[in-house]
Amino acid sequence: MAPDQHLDQDASHGDLREGRPPWPAGTGEGFVAPRESLTCDVAIVGAGITGSLVAEHLSARGLDVVLIDREQASHGSTAASTAMLLWEIDRSLVELTGLYGFERAVRAYRLSLSAVAGLTGLVGALGLSCSFQPRSSLYLAPGDSQSHDILPEFALRRRAELPGHHLDFAALHGTFEIDRAGAILSPGSAEADPVALATGLADVAAKRRVRLVSGDARDFDATDREVHIGLADGHEIKAGHMVLATGYVMPDFVRSGLHQVTSTWAMATGPQDPARLWRDRALIWEAGEAYHYLRTTTDGRIIIGGGDEPFDEQDQRLDKAALKHEALRAMLAALWPRASTEAAYAWSGAFGETGDGLPLIGPVPGRRRIFAAYGYGGNGITFSFLASRMIGAMIAGETAAWHDDFALDRDKPG
Ligand SMILES: Cc1cc2nc3c(=O)[nH]c(=O)nc-3n(C[C@H](O)[C@H](O)[C@H](O)COP(=O)(O)OP(=O)(O)OC[C@H]3O[C@@H](n4cnc5c(N)ncnc54)[C@H](O)[C@@H]3O)c2cc1C
Repeated sequence: MAPDQHLDQDASHGDLREGRPPWPAGTGEGFVAPRESLTCDVAIVGAGITGSLVAEHLSARGLDVVLIDREQASHGSTAASTAMLLWEIDRSLVELTGLYGFERAVRAYRLSLSAVAGLTGLVGALGLSCSFQPRSSLYLAPGDSQSHDILPEFALRRRAELPGHHLDFAALHGTFEIDRAGAILSPGSAEADPVALATGLADVAAKRRVRLVSGDARDFDATDREVHIGLADGHEIKAGHMVLATGYVMPDFVRSGLHQVTSTWAMATGPQDPARLWRDRALIWEAGEAYHYLRTTTDGRIIIGGGDEPFDEQDQRLDKAALKHEALRAMLAALWPRASTEAAYAWSGAFGETGDGLPLIGPVPGRRRIFAAYGYGGNGITFSFLASRMIGAMIAGETAAWHDDFALDRDKPG
């Protein structure tokens, strides 16, 4: 599949990911095939992290919600996620400013920062048990660069009054024992077990009477007044609004020229000696196009991911897996030599991105009762939270000028 194309809408979890991530499998409990056609305020198609966040939020707003998935809930891309909940966006502030100007770029960064804060507050308020930990992030200068490569980014973030400070080579080495020309250390990010997070949210929603439906949404028909969703088993769901949270499996009528699907690889080591882990277990990622990302887990494993390439069919992804995982081990050994690099888990998955690093959230053009929430890129989960709040507001008729920054039909930057 070439960039700018989309996964077929019949793509299953098996097409999205392979191998085994370290997250304990959820049960998908509570999702049952409907015995009759249903009516609701909002029908959400897709029960990964995005659909679960939307369901929790809309039910908190008092709406009558149906959450639908055709496979085991939270076991699509969500189960493959390394769940680094970063507020820093795949596109640096310098790059985003180049695309959209300073004001709009800063707005996106600020929204992302408050999305992680919002998610942190939500997990605490609901008491979700999902290995959630607030973390700092360490944004490293690329391996082959001089320290000044990261200074323009730091300067712009300071101008934007975003939190964080610069570490030069000596400070980085002295604090983190990492050999890179420089880094930006920022508070405000977090990590979690993505499966436990998504299933926990769906459980909360179910307790608020959200109906969890096992079904394959096949036909979508929207009028000015309502949306009709035809399930493969013949039942119909009639809703005031529909939210598409189908991950990287987009229905044919949702398309964006900004979108491309990428494959990414990840591995988790066995539990390390805690004394061998880096300071504060910060989330680590690199500046640059083909970056690597690292985090730890509550049981002391190191997760490393990267090696991204344009998506290809699963067989080819499997063929590449051994080489990719070996490259991740080598990268881990180079960056953090005291780690034991034996892989206990190794997996890969489809990772959707947009040309500008911002998600696609909002009404589907020409279908105002259908909203789409595709939380793309390395900030998938952060943007899923943002999507849940935006869509909640939009369904309530609340508008904000910045909503257009994420519109599905926004102009492709030059
Ligand atoms: C290896 C890897 C590492 C990643 N690391 C990070 C990270 O560190 N931080 C981060 O924030 N993000 C990360 N991501 C991205 C993140 O995982 C995704 O953005 C996020 O999981 C997307 O969730 P979702 O709910 O939108 O999609 P999914 O989890 O794919 O859920 C979509 C659901 O929709 C269902 N569905 C689809 N079509 C239909 C239909 N017609 N009818 C009924 N159900 C349907 C599917 O069965 C599926 O369960 C990573 C992704 C990968 C692959």
